Amino acid sequence: MTIRTLLIANRGEIACRIARTARRLGIRTIAVYSEADAGSLHVESCDEAWPIGAAPARDSYLRGDVILDVAKRAGADAIHPGYGFLSENADFARACAEAGIIFVGPPASAIEAMGSKSAAKQLMEKAKVPLVPGYHGDRQEPAFLERQANRIGYPVLIKASAGGGGKGMKVVEQPADFAAQLASARREASASFGDDKVLIEKYLVRPRHVEIQVFADGHGNCLHLFERDCSVQRRHQKVIEEAPAPGMTGERRREMGDAAVAAARAISYVGAGTVEFIVDAAGDFFFMEMNTRLQVEHPVTEAITGLDLVEWQLHVSAGGTLPLTQDQLRINGHAFEARLYAEDPARGFVPQTGRLAALRFPTEGVRIDTGVREGDTVSVHYDPMIAKLIVHGADRTQALDRLVRALEATRVAGLATNIGFLAALARQPAFASGNVHTGFITEHEA
Ligand code: ADP
Repeated sequence: MTIRTLLIANRGEIACRIARTARRLGIRTIAVYSEADAGSLHVESCDEAWPIGAAPARDSYLRGDVILDVAKRAGADAIHPGYGFLSENADFARACAEAGIIFVGPPASAIEAMGSKSAAKQLMEKAKVPLVPGYHGDRQEPAFLERQANRIGYPVLIKASAGGGGKGMKVVEQPADFAAQLASARREASASFGDDKVLIEKYLVRPRHVEIQVFADGHGNCLHLFERDCSVQRRHQKVIEEAPAPGMTGERRREMGDAAVAAARAISYVGAGTVEFIVDAAGDFFFMEMNTRLQVEHPVTEAITGLDLVEWQLHVSAGGTLPLTQDQLRINGHAFEARLYAEDPARGFVPQTGRLAALRFPTEGVRIDTGVREGDTVSVHYDPMIAKLIVHGADRTQALDRLVRALEATRVAGLATNIGFLAALARQPAFASGNVHTGFITEHEA
């Protein structure tokens, strides 16, 4: 199979980034756009563009039926879903396969297997992948869950089984708060995901978030492209990511890589995926979840491996074998990614909307992945991420120095952003020491 025409079922920076690789490979690109995006950069980045509906995502970017119809009419032989939107929608993946169009992602069965955090943990238990102590079974009566929390020991974390984006997650410090927090997690889960099922985990204090990039082809080969440390988070969401992880040893990397590959193999995975682990102070690691798509932070992996993950995705989904073996992969230097958001750090990082009156990036020593340009508007309809700044250096110190300089040379005006916050964060001596954990931002906020 060869992919000649690719429909990109997404918008913003990821649609532009996918289009860039596709065009380099000589693939014709089809954009789709909502009414709010008619003049947007991703439309301009593709050879052709088709309207798919009104601004709210549910009326456009989430309309699998409409997008599939465009794919057929435009003669696309593959659809790349990017991240978010339809990327982890098993029904859509299946509908593509049934229509004879390549879904650039894993088989629907693999998406389903990881779609529920609880079911995924049951599967991982069988595959002998280490799990955070907790309860991820089917019983959901409050009294039963409370007994589980007591057994696990406080603090505990209640998570929406169908969750994502930190929604439906509640930390419970003491037994007296359990019932109220459970009710609140349930309400949030049901509002966001239409499913109020929860699981309970031991809440680890000052852990790291370390994830492994895996890749598999349809011929039984599966490998990992090392790790990313995404510990620097606000509201349980990543803001600065790096690769490799500070303090990682060769032995630990092998153990985590093997566990991640075992996780992928357990669900007959094909394509790019990420196995997320939480690492405690002792360095022990536990499976959190697997994301069955390309991640926002994939560029740091590209920077240290010199590979193009979208190119690999297209190659593998068209039936190709993995271009390299595990032994041929090497880590070169160190990379950081910082996410520039339209949000107000002074007011709890609330998302901002408005016109980007100024938007200028440095052109040297940094990769900028963005889906907007000066004069564009950040609307209420979509994710408020403006751009990702990705830097690479021979070692962590050099890469961090480049990150600071790139952030300082970025000019953005017209609405509140986290640019100053990112620059201050990157300049922190504590950050430079590499001693980061998921509570880093909270602890270092003046
Ligand atoms: P989501 O899918 O909503 O993003 P995750 O399960 O990926 O949720 O968790 C998001 C973040 O929450 C993690 O990166 C980590 O910072 C924190 N977290 C998750 N589980 C735990 C835990 N058991 N203990 C402490 N922090 C956790």
